[in-house]
Amino acid sequence: MHAVDLIRKKRDGERLSRTELEFLIPGYVRGDIPDYQMAAWNMAVYFRGMDPEEITDLTLIMAQSGDTLDLSAIRGVKVDKHSTGGVGDTTTLIVAPLVASLGVPVAKMSGRGLGHTGGTVDKLESIPGFQVSLEPEQFVSQVNRIGLSLVGQTGQLAPADKLLYALRDVTATVESIPLIASSIMSKKIAAGADGFVLDVKVGKGAFMKTEEDAVELAKTMVQIGQLAGRDTMALVTDMNQPLGRAIGNALEVKEAIRTLRGEGPERLTGLCIELAVEMVLMAGGASSRQEARQSVLESLRSGSALHKLRELIEAQGGDGRVVDDPSILPQASYTKDILAGQSGYLQAIDPLMIGMVAMELGAGREHKDSVIDLAVGIELQTEVGDYVHDQTVLARIYANDQSKLEQGARQVLQAFQFSESQPLLQPTIYRKITAQEL
Ligand code: URA
Ligand code: CA
Repeated sequence: MHAVDLIRKKRDGERLSRTELEFLIPGYVRGDIPDYQMAAWNMAVYFRGMDPEEITDLTLIMAQSGDTLDLSAIRGVKVDKHSTGGVGDTTTLIVAPLVASLGVPVAKMSGRGLGHTGGTVDKLESIPGFQVSLEPEQFVSQVNRIGLSLVGQTGQLAPADKLLYALRDVTATVESIPLIASSIMSKKIAAGADGFVLDVKVGKGAFMKTEEDAVELAKTMVQIGQLAGRDTMALVTDMNQPLGRAIGNALEVKEAIRTLRGEGPERLTGLCIELAVEMVLMAGGASSRQEARQSVLESLRSGSALHKLRELIEAQGGDGRVVDDPSILPQASYTKDILAGQSGYLQAIDPLMIGMVAMELGAGREHKDSVIDLAVGIELQTEVGDYVHDQTVLARIYANDQSKLEQGARQVLQAFQFSESQPLLQPTIYRKITAQEL
């Protein structure tokens, strides 16, 4: 077999067989196939696409290109949750303890943040003492003991994807739905769960800018999951404004704690409840949707979800008192309130701009190896649809550097759009994609 023939085949719109993909992908990882041939093949996929079985083969080959986690020693059905990344997306810190508090095991690996989107692992590291790296045996035994573990990626998970993604990044081939879907699902499958609840974000602050593209990505990932023998469903959700009100690592932990107390922002709380209901149902933790919803709401109301977060923190070496006293979290030296300076309805809050300002304050990474400041960020005090006055505080900026504070204060105001008339409010959840409707 020759790489050039496989590139030509894809260029001409044909499908590659599993055997052909098994030649191409591992050959690239070994270094037998050079970047220029792989880049040409990526570009052919970009223009020609792939069929569902072909995408699934690619996904499984990438998933098997490195370490895979074996979660079979954990009792019960393991359901993982994945968000394609947004701003103020604190859902994992809320949903994981919520679901675990209902006896559904959660063994989750999360990533670090990059660009304007945050990462769960960074947020967890803002809790004093919290260890995000556990040995696989510890990870498994902790889930059997308390029903929950959240860790960073360990080992070499889907190294083929890592190489391909870096190549796509510099060859204008990131924006291909088959390549994005296989990239995400290869890492999820390698992390070992039995099923996946996906949160595909759409809008200004998301990877997918249109609902049409987000739905197509969601359907492609659900199809891969099903063909790979893993129960998979997706929610397509709004990222035209930040989901929660906190943007920044320690600030988001604080918001997660508030939300687990039942005092969180409505949109964030609502999405967390829906994601938790889907995970509980998929894991067989309730006999009906209504029962799942009642259990989820009861766990929030009774404080048992918050208690589970405390157990998680303590099991991983962190200071559990944080759930009662969030002032233990890293605190920024400077804060500044941003006033509206005019009256009117808030027509829009641009999540991309908010995310970029938070990144420049130090909350996010511009490059993979940037050092972040866990204390800094933005706390929105308003949301789209609010009527504000001249002196209304729109947002509070947290910084550890005077000049960054001033710069952030100037920039953040540009994220807000005002209007005379009340704007139409968008729902948080646009669509639900299940295997049945493919
Ligand atoms: N996120 C991924 O993990 N892979 C992609 O290709 C795009 C976004
Ligand atoms: Ca399209």
